[in-house]
Formats: sequence, C-alpha cells, structure tokens
Amino acid sequence: MMIEDNFRKVVPYVPGEQPKDNDVIKLNTNENPYPPSPSVLDALAKVDNNSFRKYPDPDVTDLVQAIADYHHFKKENVFVGVGSDDVLAMCFLSFFNSGKEILFPDVSYAFYKVWADLFQIKYREVPLDENFNIVPKDYMVDNGGIVFPNPNAPTGLTLPLSDIEDIIIENKHKVVIVDEAYIDFGGETALSLINKYDNLIVTRTFSKSRSMAGMRIGYCIGNEQLISVLNSVKFSFNSYTMSDVAIKCGVASINDDTYFKNIVAKIIDTREKTKESLTKLGFTFLDSSSNFIFAKHNEISGEELFNALKENKIFVRHFNAPRINDYLRITIGTEREMEELISFLDSYISGKRG
Ligand code: PMP
Repeated sequence: MMIEDNFRKVVPYVPGEQPKDNDVIKLNTNENPYPPSPSVLDALAKVDNNSFRKYPDPDVTDLVQAIADYHHFKKENVFVGVGSDDVLAMCFLSFFNSGKEILFPDVSYAFYKVWADLFQIKYREVPLDENFNIVPKDYMVDNGGIVFPNPNAPTGLTLPLSDIEDIIIENKHKVVIVDEAYIDFGGETALSLINKYDNLIVTRTFSKSRSMAGMRIGYCIGNEQLISVLNSVKFSFNSYTMSDVAIKCGVASINDDTYFKNIVAKIIDTREKTKESLTKLGFTFLDSSSNFIFAKHNEISGEELFNALKENKIFVRHFNAPRINDYLRITIGTEREMEELISFLDSYISGKRG
C-alpha cells in the first residue's frame, strides 16, 4: 500500500492562460475589455474594515435581493456563488444524484465533464450536428439530468427557446440546467420558463457582460424547492462563499443598468464589425450571439494562427480537440484591439500567400 493509493485522481479543467505581461491583447478568456460600472468602483472605495474583520453575510441577502428584484423573482428563487463555476458545481452536487448518465453536448464548456468526474457522476457527451447545433430530440432519452450553455460555448450558437422548452417538458423528473453565461450578448433567456416548470435552473455570471470576472460572482434562478436544496448543499460545504466586498460590488453593478446595457451594446457592435472583417480575410465562422467568435481560416490551420498571434502578443483560445482543432475562439475586445487583431491577420495571411 502506497500513500498515493489514498489520493483522489482527477484531470482538472485547464483555464485560458492569464499572462503576467499587461502589454498583450488578451482575447482568450471571454473577459470584458471595459471596466465595470463606476458605481462598482465607488462601492469598493467605501469598503471599511468591517468587510475584512467580520465574516460576511452567509445568506448574501443584499445581493440575492438585488438580483431577484432585477429579474422580477423572489429572493427564494435566487442562489449566488463564487462565479457561475461555483454555482454550476453546487448544481451538479445537488441535482445529479440519480446514478444515471447526465447529458451535455460534445462540443461545449469543458468544465462539465470535470465536475462530473470529480463528483463521480456518469455522463454522456451528446454530439452536436454537423453545423454544430444542439439536436433537442437527442436529449429526450433516459438520463439523470441535462446541462448545456445557451449560447453554447465555444460555438456561440443559440438554441431557440421553444426547443429548450421541449427539452424541459420531456425531462419533467430531471433537472435541466441552462448555462446562460453569455445570454446578455444574444439569444433568448429561459428565465421566462422558471415559473412554468419546476425542473429548470438558469445560471448566470457577472464575469462577462458585467466586467467582473475578477470579483467572482455567479448566480442561478430556479423554483423555491431547487434553490432550497442548493442552499442546504452549500451550507454543508462552506457557509461564507461570498466576501462582503464582492456582495457590495455586485449590488452596485446590478443597480447601474444603463452602464451595463451600453457596454453590452458596444461589444455586440464590435462583434458584428469583426465578423465582416474576418469574412474578408477568408475566415468562416459560426454566427456567434456571444462575446466571442469561433472562426477558422480556409487555408491556414488553427494551431498555426494561434501560435503566430501569440508570438505577436495577441492571445486567443485554441482547443486541441476533435472537430474543433482548426478553430480559434476569439473574444471580442475593444474596437482598437480588434483592429490590431485584424491588421495582424491581414499581413500574416497576405505574407503567406506571397
Ligand atoms: N459557463 C460557461 C459556458 C463559461 O464559458 C464560463 C467561463 N469560463 C463559465 C460558465 C464560468 O464563468 P464564471 O465562473 O466566471 O462565472
């Protein structure tokens, strides 16, 4: 017997690189290139020693209430966590206990299978169709629960709400999680179905549209019974997940809706301009409704472009995985950053053509 025999063996999720160098154009982790609302920075400036000295509110009341009011739900419908990764992990622990396989798309958020392995949940990756779309009927089979992002990542494609509703109806006795990390950039939210079905959880994050990836705030909305199960599981693990600073900054962000909507509109505008420029350079891509574009070039491999960009201090994401290894996932940065990206690609591609 070796000490190692008692260790848990897992293959962890690999997050996108966070270079120390501030001088790079960072388009690799779907962060928001703009600062959070000035009212978030004001809230931060007002933080005093109590936020450090004392334990934070374990029920995260102020933030839960602000989110509930914003989406017109009750506070009993809202659960918050340290980024939506934390919320999703809690959902896996809380709802996927049937012993049956849970289902998620084969090209999707790579963390799903990591949590499934960590929590010893069986799973099956359901292939997207040849155009990278989710096929709803593939989720209407015996299973232990369902999770998928809408818009999907890294494809950026959305599933119509009527298809989502069909999946929920066909899976009455299982929890269906719709991961809406990118929904503010496009697609139709499933929040309107929460009061209609008691097996639906919608997860959201402050990391993308609210420019707060570093503050780690995520949440989900579901019926009271599901939220109460999540709270029991959370309080069996760690009572104080959200720092007081995060709670105060989160509330300030929610309360500045004008700023939020402006920033989102700006990113969508830059995304559409970037699509046009990429098309001119010989890229094809899926019609993203997100804050990233999943694109491949018709002559040059994804890996080559990824490396060339990186050498030039432009970071994008490349997944060395079946079906998608010719694609680059390019986060939408500022107008200037995207112009620099396009200008580099233009000279690199024309250089290759000689
Ligand atoms: N879901 C999807 C689909 C994502 O791409 C991400 C970002 N990596 C997350 C959830 C988690 O984001 P966060 O923990 O920052 O809320």
